[in-house]
Amino acid sequence: MEGQFWDSMETLSRDELKKLQLFRLKDTIRRAASSLFYRSKFKQHQITADALHSLEDIQHFPFTTRQDLSTHYPFGILSIERSEVVRFHSSTGAYAPKKGIFYSRDDLSSWASIVARSFNTAGLVTTDIMQVMTDFGLHPTSHGCELGGEELGLLVIPAGNISMHRHIQLMKELGTTVLYLPAGILPSLIDAFYELNLNPSVDTELRLLIVGESPLNEEEKKKYENILRIPIHRSYGILEINSPGMAIECEQQQGMHIWEDYYLIEIIDPQTLKNLPAGEWGELVITTLNQEAMPLIRYQTGDITRIIEEPCPCGRTHRRIDNTTRRSDELFFIQGRALYPSQIAETLKRVPEVGDNYVIYLDTVDNNDQLIVEVEVVDNLYLDNYGKLECLTKNISSRIFEETKIQPKIKLVQNNYFLEQNYKNLKQVVDRRKKV
Ligand SMILES: [Zn+2]
Repeated sequence: MEGQFWDSMETLSRDELKKLQLFRLKDTIRRAASSLFYRSKFKQHQITADALHSLEDIQHFPFTTRQDLSTHYPFGILSIERSEVVRFHSSTGAYAPKKGIFYSRDDLSSWASIVARSFNTAGLVTTDIMQVMTDFGLHPTSHGCELGGEELGLLVIPAGNISMHRHIQLMKELGTTVLYLPAGILPSLIDAFYELNLNPSVDTELRLLIVGESPLNEEEKKKYENILRIPIHRSYGILEINSPGMAIECEQQQGMHIWEDYYLIEIIDPQTLKNLPAGEWGELVITTLNQEAMPLIRYQTGDITRIIEEPCPCGRTHRRIDNTTRRSDELFFIQGRALYPSQIAETLKRVPEVGDNYVIYLDTVDNNDQLIVEVEVVDNLYLDNYGKLECLTKNISSRIFEETKIQPKIKLVQNNYFLEQNYKNLKQVVDRRKKV
C-alpha cells in the first residue's frame, strides 16, 4: 500500500485543481458572508463573491488576522447556525490570545479524510500502530490525529500527556510503529530512552516519527534522525484551521505538500503585505476552501515559508511549502508547546507581591528546554527572608505551571531592577537555547 495515494485529488492536474479551487473559493466567500464578522468586512470593502473571476482576484479581499479572531471570539466568525456545530477547539491557556474554531459534522469528516491523506503520504499503512504524544484537551491536534489515524485504519493509541517512561512502556507493550509528537519534546524522548538503556531502533518497533506543532529545522531533524536512527517527517497545521492535516512531507522529504483542494495559499511580504512572486520567502496566508462552520479568508498565519513550485517526484500535484519558521512575533515554542508572553504576564498580575515588569529566558539545561521567568518583587524585604522568598517562588511557579503546563524556574529580582537595566530596551523573550 505504501506509495499509493489516499484519494484521486492528490494527482489532479494543476488546471483541474485550479478550477476546483475557484469553484470552492466562490462558495467559501458566499458562506463566510453569513458570519457577522465577514458580512460587515465585505460590506465595508464593497466586495462579494461576484468579484471573483480568477484565483488572483482573492488579492482584492481584506486579510483576516489573529487579532480579528480574538476580537470576534467566540461566535463572531461562525458562518452556520449554532445548532449545526458539533465541535469546538481552542488554545488551552486562560491568558493566551483567544482563538477558537468550530466544526460542522462535514468539517470533522473532511478533517479526518485530510489527516488520513497526510498520514498515508508520510508512508503510514493500516498495520501501523500510532502513539499520539500531544495533549488531549481543548487543543485540536491529538483529536485530529485520532480522527485521521482511525480513518486510515491505523491502530491509534491516544496516550497524550503521560510520563515519557510510560510512553516508552506503551511502545514496548503494544509494538508502536509510529509516533506523532511535537518537535520540542524530541530531546526528552531521547533522554528517556537513554535513561532506560534502550536503543529505539533496536529495542522498539518504531519505524517513523511525525512531528508537528513546533518547527524543526533541517539540522535538528538530521541530528535527531541520526541519534534515533528513525526517519522523521515534518507536518504543518495551525489551530485556527486544521491541526494536523494541512501539509506533510512525502517520502521524498523535500518540503511539505500543502493540500490545495482545501487551502488557497499566498505568500506576502509581512511588512508591506504585498503578494510575493513564486518561490520567495514570506508570510503564509491561507484561505480555507472546504471549511463549512468557520471559513477564513486570507488568514495571516504568522509563519514564514516559501512555495516550492517544482513538481515532486512522488507524483502529487499539490505544491510544497518549505520548512516554516515563526515570524518574530509574540508566540514562542518551548518543550513542544506554543506559549504567549501574555500567559506569563497575566499570571504574574495575579501575584500582588511582584511587579508588572518581567523577562522570559529560554535556556538549554541538560539537553532540555528550560523556562526562566525573571520578575521584580514589590518589596525588597522578600529577598532577605528565605522562607518568604521560597514561598513566593513556589506560588508563582505553580501558577505558571497551571497556565502553561511548563515547570518554570523563577528568579526574583529587586524592585526597580529592570529600570536600572533600561527595561524598555530589553526583549520580552530572550532565547538563549543551544542551537544544533
Ligand atoms: Zn512528494
